[in-house]
Amino acid sequence: MTAETAKNPAQPEETTQYTVLKLRFYPSPEQAALIEKTFGCCRYLWNKMLSDVQEFYAATDLQYIPTPARYKKEAPFLKEVDSQALCTVHQNLRRAFLDFFRAPGAFGAPQFKTKKACRDSFTVYCREYRTGPSIYLTADGFQMPKLGFLRAKVHRRPLPRWALVSVTVRKTRSGKYFAAIAFKCPVRQPEPVVPTAERTLGLNYSLNRFYVDSEGNSPDLPGVARSKEKLSRIQRKLSRMQYGSGNYEKQLQKLRLQHERIANQRRDFIHKESRRIANAWDAVCVRDADLAELARRLKQPNVLDLGFGMFRECLRYKLERQGKAYIAVDRFAPAAKTCRACGCVNEKLDAHDKVWTCPHCGAEISREVNAARNLRDMGLAQIA
Ligand SMILES: [Zn+2]
Repeated sequence: MTAETAKNPAQPEETTQYTVLKLRFYPSPEQAALIEKTFGCCRYLWNKMLSDVQEFYAATDLQYIPTPARYKKEAPFLKEVDSQALCTVHQNLRRAFLDFFRAPGAFGAPQFKTKKACRDSFTVYCREYRTGPSIYLTADGFQMPKLGFLRAKVHRRPLPRWALVSVTVRKTRSGKYFAAIAFKCPVRQPEPVVPTAERTLGLNYSLNRFYVDSEGNSPDLPGVARSKEKLSRIQRKLSRMQYGSGNYEKQLQKLRLQHERIANQRRDFIHKESRRIANAWDAVCVRDADLAELARRLKQPNVLDLGFGMFRECLRYKLERQGKAYIAVDRFAPAAKTCRACGCVNEKLDAHDKVWTCPHCGAEISREVNAARNLRDMGLAQIA
């Protein structure tokens, strides 16, 4: 070995990856009041800035977003909350406008926030001071500017080289507090895995079974159906109660908790299922379908219910972090209509046919498995 290679060993390149730890935390009544105030100030500032941008634009045809400092004179209560959170509102509004002007079709124009429809949240970025960072994690909670120490359930520790970037504080409808703590982590770029036909899985979205893969398998769905029955029971009971009464409030809380439960079940399922597939296979081919459009076409708004879009996204990053390929097959590729036996395309195939007979070669075809296998082959051909 020469001295040069010893100094510069062929190390894989390092990249930056972001990881978020989501912790439930328990503020004191004073802290909860300040958090509530911060939510309110962020919403107020967003709306104020947005209306000023619109007025300024109407008068001058120019795009200008004033800074938070400008508003503190007319709204002194803004001084009581962390100014960092207000800066983030400014950045978010800027980003929202940039996105909108870059791709008006994909992103809507920034909207006003209402207390009722918008989720309560604010984000604070970590700053390095001479005395140390402004935000840090301890064994039983985390420290934030203005709020001080917040007691939390720390179920997972960051690794030694992770650097804390920001904290997003959220309150759920049922009144639980969560902090999403983002870390920047250096990772070695994984060796790219070259997919083969045997080690590649095709996944076809299925309305009833979530997906059918090229092996003919479907996942075990979580017991969402039973949870939904319970949800409608709670809803029915709520509708018979007197609005605003003590019992009504109690029942409403039950409803919120049940909604959260279903969302948690779904998220848990999506993460476990995508993890299982990403570890077991070298590449996955999925149709790059627009699920909102699919829902409209099939007149089945619950296409989005099980979160297939989120599933694809989880699958993509879980594969990519292992150097594996996530292959998005062109959404107009005729995966379902093409017969695997002879390759002819059956243009007359109905969207609801589960089994069909090939008009050319007479093969009996199971729609979903056929589509999944075609997706796998089309995906592999796409990257070859
Ligand atoms: Zn055929």
